[in-house]
Amino acid sequence: MVEKYKPTFLVEAVYQLTPEMLKKHGFKAVLTDLDNTLIAWNNPLGTPELHTWLEELKQAEIPVVVISNNSHKRIEKAVAPFGIQFVSRAMKPMIKGFREAEKLLNLKPSELVMLGDQLMTDICGSNRAGIASVLVKPVVQSDSFATKFNRMRERRVWKKLEKKYDMTFQEGI
Ligand SMILES: [Mg+2]
Repeated sequence: MVEKYKPTFLVEAVYQLTPEMLKKHGFKAVLTDLDNTLIAWNNPLGTPELHTWLEELKQAEIPVVVISNNSHKRIEKAVAPFGIQFVSRAMKPMIKGFREAEKLLNLKPSELVMLGDQLMTDICGSNRAGIASVLVKPVVQSDSFATKFNRMRERRVWKKLEKKYDMTFQEGI
């Protein structure tokens, strides 16, 4: 049962995924969560590392699409500094948003990889959609109630995964 939450890869941060690594695995585009994966609530413009990484992917012609459960208005504003495409109200872990992104990119699930900080939404959704996934460490610890509640559930799943699999964060894929 816990398999549905198992990420394909675990990596410390999105910046560690170089275009070469992505290409080696046959990934032609990157899908990604927004909050706590790319940006933190206290730094909505993103770090210099994030901007450099996005520029590297652009140079390598690897498109990036944000898949978020947040509203169109919020996501449109949040991704504006990065100039990337997005799917809002994705309802992760449902596959709706993943399918929308596939259509947007005209790519198959096997050609995509999803990056996210949450097992219950980002990783579970990727697994359902048949898309490889990378779990990253959350950019910051948030203290909103909803996040705390989710983290509690996440920890339970995490413990089960740890019993069965090597859940060490790597520096690349
Ligand atoms: Mg997140």
